[in-house]
Amino acid sequence: MQKQWYHKQLRIVQTVMREIDIVNYDAKAVVEYLKSVHANCILVNAGGVVDFFDNETELSRPNRFRTTENVLGDLTREAHAAGIRVMVRVDFRGVEQERYERAPHWFGQHKDGSAQIAWTRIYRPCYNSVYPNQHAVEFIRQMMTKYPIDGVWENSVGFGMGPCYCATCRENYRRDTGKEIPTGDNYAAPEFDDYRAWKAACADAHIRLLRDTVKSFGEDKAFCSEIFGMFHAGNALQTGIDLYNAKDHFDFLVSPAFLTGAGTLGLPYDNLTQGASSIRFLKSIQPAKQAVLLYGNNGTKWRYVKDPLIENKLWMWEAAAVGGNYWNCLFNGQHPGATHDVRAARMENEVYAYLEENEKLLNGKLPVKDVGILYVKAARDTFGKDDETKDGYGVFIKGLERILTENHVQYNFIPDLDLKAEDLAGLKALLMPNAACLSDEQIKLIRDFVANGGGLIAGFESSLYDENAKRRADFGLADVFGVHFTGMRRDTSLDCYQLIRSPGHPVFSLIDTDSTEMLINGGETLLVTLREDSHAQMPASYIPRIENQPPEHAWIPDHVTPFPTVAANTFGKGRVVYFANQVEKLAHLNGHEDYIDLYMGALQYVLSAPLCLTTDAPHAVHVALMEDPAVPGDYVLSLVNTCGAQRRPIRQTVPVYDLTVRLAGCAPKALENMLHAENFRAEACEENGVPCVKIHIPELKMFAAAHITVDKA
Ligand SMILES: [Zn+2]
Repeated sequence: MQKQWYHKQLRIVQTVMREIDIVNYDAKAVVEYLKSVHANCILVNAGGVVDFFDNETELSRPNRFRTTENVLGDLTREAHAAGIRVMVRVDFRGVEQERYERAPHWFGQHKDGSAQIAWTRIYRPCYNSVYPNQHAVEFIRQMMTKYPIDGVWENSVGFGMGPCYCATCRENYRRDTGKEIPTGDNYAAPEFDDYRAWKAACADAHIRLLRDTVKSFGEDKAFCSEIFGMFHAGNALQTGIDLYNAKDHFDFLVSPAFLTGAGTLGLPYDNLTQGASSIRFLKSIQPAKQAVLLYGNNGTKWRYVKDPLIENKLWMWEAAAVGGNYWNCLFNGQHPGATHDVRAARMENEVYAYLEENEKLLNGKLPVKDVGILYVKAARDTFGKDDETKDGYGVFIKGLERILTENHVQYNFIPDLDLKAEDLAGLKALLMPNAACLSDEQIKLIRDFVANGGGLIAGFESSLYDENAKRRADFGLADVFGVHFTGMRRDTSLDCYQLIRSPGHPVFSLIDTDSTEMLINGGETLLVTLREDSHAQMPASYIPRIENQPPEHAWIPDHVTPFPTVAANTFGKGRVVYFANQVEKLAHLNGHEDYIDLYMGALQYVLSAPLCLTTDAPHAVHVALMEDPAVPGDYVLSLVNTCGAQRRPIRQTVPVYDLTVRLAGCAPKALENMLHAENFRAEACEENGVPCVKIHIPELKMFAAAHITVDKA
């Protein structure tokens, strides 16, 4: 396959223009801005909601402020002259009342026949109607015939929320399934299972149609659309579309992840590493495609003012450290240098320049994975909620990522889509944060992985359900965990503890068990018992609630129960730790050191080989190693320094000094500065008889990266 422009590094700027932003559109000034920030692609409005060009389709909606402006014509000419690509945003999520009334049967309906309306005044179409399909095809054909644009981005496929009861949908559903569309109020309920699957297929057909239309103009024309990310449980459920089914249709993968776009209710800022998580995830589901972080220098919740500057920069460096490309999305004005708040208009200069200057070195690099986090879509769909206090999936992942990031463990996701033995090969441990819904085939792969020597940490309800969220009588991996589920569970959210049963067990290597008999518990705990046919041990066990009031009564006669909170097992050649509580979730929501140190002790215990990277860097310095799988030993080492603040948003970072990073099992060949690594030094050393590379970092400001090549032992 010939390498197209969209297979290479993407440094995109998107201007989501308001209708009035067309006035005196100055393509020259836009391109000057793009050049000044090292962008190589612009994404601009074409139309749908409001048209920014002469759209001659039946349902066109001309821009009311347009006089002689020729946005697509001028911009393609100016941008192409500067070697910059032009993609356009099309948006078929809805129309105003006037257009709706010309063809009401093309738009979505509630079960009572009333129109589906978004944002108080926009009539939504449905996947199956003429408007987002035949009309959209005609729209794209006209546009691409007139202008030499380089690609189309559909914003967004998520226009259908929940069920649509329009005549077309009712008829098609009857034709395809012989059934009526269910009418219950809970769209997540099982009665909608078939409907949701049907709708996902409709969404898929819609995406394919638009992609084929774009591609009929040439393989060099890019197509992608907005699909929400790995943590957006609500969106995937409502729209019927997810990155898992959409990834093959897109020429590059993009995940919206704004610092201030927290899906979590009440949270003004997302986890600082969440943008990086999105990049890791995109790279894990489709390593060959560019992974792009859609963020904004001005916010998404507060679109008229900049996002906190230092945080936003850290957000970008975190993504750069794991190989992210960028897409700066601005919501007002012709370009970020010409809007109401331009304080952040050049925020990305340094980051985009770093990418551009190091394009060759960054190309093809993927996060090194000593350990893999199993990402289970069925568990996300079943237990994931956008509200963290109710979430039973994303919070487990976030907590685990916190543990790994703070402890500098190199990881990536292992998506459960088409899981194969090769996907697990080479992992020193597989981590399953509430991987609740697994198929028999997946269970067999995991069992074989452990039997052959792989390490495993599993938590809470992992493997307790099949891939259709049907409860099993016992864990599908009960033999591997060495425990049975009793069927009983306890609310351990308050006044609950774990009893240390074998203080010398390696899982406590980071905990001072000479000084405590107990550890914190929290959340919910499953009551499990050790299997007699296993080698499982019980390093720690569940203690029933000890009410804390009145203090005189705050005791119970016996702390000992037969229910491990931590079970340590050997299975075949591999080691396993099973946590019966919600340790990863608690690491995220509570953060007590017991959760983190116990998990890290468990990880050290199950690892099938030593970690490739160790460092004395503080928790708040995030160290990421990337390698080109085709060129073993060809690394990019990045460090992001988030030290300096005890509250969000971080307004200042303070430098740190004299850090050491060790890469095990190799000898140094060369170290080359990529950014702020002029004084890094690599030398050969030995640790426990193993050769390694010791990298000395005299000073780290906010970010530094070095290209390191080694000979692997
Ligand atoms: Zn419909």
